[in-house]
Amino acid sequence: MKADVGLVGLAVMGQNLVLNIARKGYTVAVYNRTAERTKRFIEERVKSEKIVPAYSIEDFVNSLSKPRKIILMVKAGKPVDDMIGELLPYLEKGDLIIDGGNSHYADTDRRLKELAKEGILYLGMGVSGGEYGALHGPSLMPGGTRDAYALVERILMDIAARTEDGPCCTYVGDGSAGHFVKMVHNGIEYSIMQSIAEIYDLMRKGLNLSTEQIGSIFEDWNNGELSSFLMEISSKIMRWNDEETGKPLVELILDKAEQKGTGKWSTQAALDLGVPTFSMAASVFARVVSYYKEERQRLSKLYHKHLTLSESVTIEELEKALSLAYFLSYSQGIWLIHEASKTFNYGIDLLEVLRIWKGGCIIRSKMLDFLIELLKDSQDNLTFLNDEKAQKFVEERLDSAVKVSNFARSLAIPSPAINGCLDYLFSLTTDSLPANLIQAQRDFFGAHTFERIDKPGTFHVEWQPLD
Ligand code: NDP
Repeated sequence: MKADVGLVGLAVMGQNLVLNIARKGYTVAVYNRTAERTKRFIEERVKSEKIVPAYSIEDFVNSLSKPRKIILMVKAGKPVDDMIGELLPYLEKGDLIIDGGNSHYADTDRRLKELAKEGILYLGMGVSGGEYGALHGPSLMPGGTRDAYALVERILMDIAARTEDGPCCTYVGDGSAGHFVKMVHNGIEYSIMQSIAEIYDLMRKGLNLSTEQIGSIFEDWNNGELSSFLMEISSKIMRWNDEETGKPLVELILDKAEQKGTGKWSTQAALDLGVPTFSMAASVFARVVSYYKEERQRLSKLYHKHLTLSESVTIEELEKALSLAYFLSYSQGIWLIHEASKTFNYGIDLLEVLRIWKGGCIIRSKMLDFLIELLKDSQDNLTFLNDEKAQKFVEERLDSAVKVSNFARSLAIPSPAINGCLDYLFSLTTDSLPANLIQAQRDFFGAHTFERIDKPGTFHVEWQPLD
């Protein structure tokens, strides 16, 4: 009997996705570039006859029922092109390749076009939820043609996480829509993770709380409006002790944050599309600067910051500041997705995006219900801010967030994500910005012209030359 679906790439994500698919009753053929990995997977983790190993591309492709459906879970970038190149000679028109990795959306558009010429269907699918999600139900963000999606809709719906609103999978949109949405999901993830980390920093350095105490507070918060996957894991991390030393493990982890690129790509896309994702960009830079550990160590001995301490903050104020940061991180991301959808004709339904983020994925949170409510009230409410309920939500938390920011500043504790969120909010909700001076400067040195507030038209002044 031929397999229902094939999967290439048996690292953590691929293995778990295969086990998930097989558990739902489908037969899966598997292939990995390095045969040893396939053997180990079959020996150590596979008990079901529904998972069939293949040790050559030809055998793998021949073991699939037609039209063939092949999921790639290999490293993003060149490996995806390499695998497509290897598969292509054995595929027939109407077969489907699904790239489930974190590919850059521009690569997905290119591959879609190249494969369409060969008559091969292609989906770029965001998969979120890490290895646990892949095994127990991820949030799936497939994009491409509807025909391609129709071929695998049932399987994807079956393996996705479920909430009271249905499976966390939807046809996201045309072209690279799925990978774009997954990329921005990760951009939001960067911003929320960094915001939590900044609040943690303030708690330990500003309020002198122990790691254990912070863990209890995070646990409490996870039962309130901050209820979310990232809050839950952060509370667990705080309570995890190192076996060897008995100390909280988090205190022993080197403060150099790694990144694989999706936060940077989101920020690059935001710059290209003209969306002010202040805190997303700041969170990428926060990881970048963390990497300069030796430089930071050296300079920290050189600079003694004699600042005037601001009023301290309460736990409740910290919670409100973080809650506002969550809200504004989603706001930036949804705006970015909307702008991309318009520019690239993705046809994305933002309500569906919010719905499929409710389960399985890393940025799942209780707040998504509130955001769905705001967007349902008005589909044009892209930043969520154009609504009385949002206005009330923001105003009730703003004072606390500013106090938190001031307190952090006065302790010289960096808080780029929290401040990025505040600057995003202040910039968007300020009638007058100093961009008038920027325009004057540009006109002064480059005759770039400016508009006026008192009359229509474009103006240029022969400014006095410099002495
Ligand atoms: P990795 O990103 O570490 O990729 C390893 C897999 O890619 C292995 O199967 C490896 O095969 C294969 N591979 C690497 N280079 C090539 C090549 N040139 N040709 C063929 N195969 C190649 O694995 P993950 O499971 O972590 O992730 C898979 C994809 O899913 C990535 O795109 C990742 O970004 C994405 N993703 C990962 C998440 C996670 O939490 N890890 C979450 C969501 C998405 P070999 O054994 O031969 O080296």
